[in-house]
Amino acid sequence: LTSGLEAAWSKLKGEEVLTKENIVEPMRDIRRALLEADVSLPVVRRFVQSVSEDAVGTGVVRGVRPDQQLVKVVGDELVKLMGGEVSELVFAKSAPTVILLAGLQGVGKTTVSAKLALYLKKLGKSCMLIAGDVYRPAAIDQLVMLGEQVGVPVYAAGTGIKPAEIARQGLAEAKKNNVDVVIMDTAGRLQIDKAMMDELKDVKQVLNPTEVLLVVDAMTGQEAAALVATFNVEIGITGAILTKLDGDSRGGAALSVKEVSGKPIKLVGRGERMEDLEPFYPDRMAGRVLGMGDVLSFVEKAQEVMREEDAEDLQKKIMSAKFDFNDFLKQTRAVARMGTMARVVGMIPGMGKVTPTQIREAEKSLQIMEAMIEVMTPEEREKPELLAESSERRKRVAQESGKTEQQVSQLVAQLFQMRVRMKNLMGVMEGGGSLPALN
Ligand code: GDP
Ligand code: MG
Repeated sequence: LTSGLEAAWSKLKGEEVLTKENIVEPMRDIRRALLEADVSLPVVRRFVQSVSEDAVGTGVVRGVRPDQQLVKVVGDELVKLMGGEVSELVFAKSAPTVILLAGLQGVGKTTVSAKLALYLKKLGKSCMLIAGDVYRPAAIDQLVMLGEQVGVPVYAAGTGIKPAEIARQGLAEAKKNNVDVVIMDTAGRLQIDKAMMDELKDVKQVLNPTEVLLVVDAMTGQEAAALVATFNVEIGITGAILTKLDGDSRGGAALSVKEVSGKPIKLVGRGERMEDLEPFYPDRMAGRVLGMGDVLSFVEKAQEVMREEDAEDLQKKIMSAKFDFNDFLKQTRAVARMGTMARVVGMIPGMGKVTPTQIREAEKSLQIMEAMIEVMTPEEREKPELLAESSERRKRVAQESGKTEQQVSQLVAQLFQMRVRMKNLMGVMEGGGSLPALN
């Protein structure tokens, strides 16, 4: 998606203002990029039309280049497409709040059930899980185990029982124990079928849930749109949870959910650990789709492992594009310490997204970077320009770190690339930076 969009922006270089004519080509690139990212065709059509109308209407803004203007319009439209604001979970006026999870097999329902319980526990809510996948004993065991792991009770009654009946029993048990939130895991099938829908309808009728959340695998791609629409029509959902966002997905599912169902994505799963569930931020997702990296999420994650003031400092530097090798090193070390490379590397501007299989390679390349930064002088670390300007310095760094000169050049280029991207993201009002040529 990113490279397609970059092609779109580049076609506006040298233009003075966005016109009906000069956005035709870039819009074609945007359309192609969205389709390649697995956004469904009707959604793409509406999106492109809406962006085209808005873009031409923006007129000349002093100090803003047309390509930056189009980035902004596309970004705003993406945010709008995904529902604009963060959509909070709704709680019932009188306890218990009941959350029903639905979705196809293997999308992450059972994992999400436990993650969600932990998430709510952290908000001070008492929770109970109901094991509603009554077809496979293994599925019940899985939920019981995860429940233990997050310290939340699981109501299970084996496999010889109808899901609606276990829902009724579980709910009664929850009421007896004054539980704040009940989360019901259900069985999925490989495909949508009538039996699954009927079963869910029965369960829904018994539970009268506050939230019916459709769990969607981010890798689903094009089919996500039809899937969400069908579940919404058949059982009526209140929102969605997008899982496996840490994987190699192209993001299309995120863009389609709201548009086809009118219901927002409320939470996202970014990994297999129980802590890996977060609210869904449309603006951050838009930033990520635009290839500017997910600076905000990144800063937030960094905050978890860095001292507060360090992180603030980093944020300031990102804003002012003064990010130097010291920050780079601090950041890479923090990332390494987090041990969640797949998730975090995808958020670092300029580094792009990695597939799980590339994680090990990424870790290795971080080690290589560290080795090179470590032998830089304090001055070089603070002023990366010194290295950009002098091949003597790069040679020395290469020699002392045992790397090649080409590796050093790459590292320097990468730092400037990150600056440019951060700057682009931070200010449509600023002129975008440019890469210094190495000599
Ligand atoms: P269910 O059939 O819908 O209940 O799916 P499960 O909860 O059993 O999950 C299926 C597989 O997906 C398991 O191996 C999970 O560990 C994995 N999984 C679930 N959520 C995520 C996620 O956000 N990221 C990653 N990488 N894996 C996930
Ligand atoms: Mg399951």
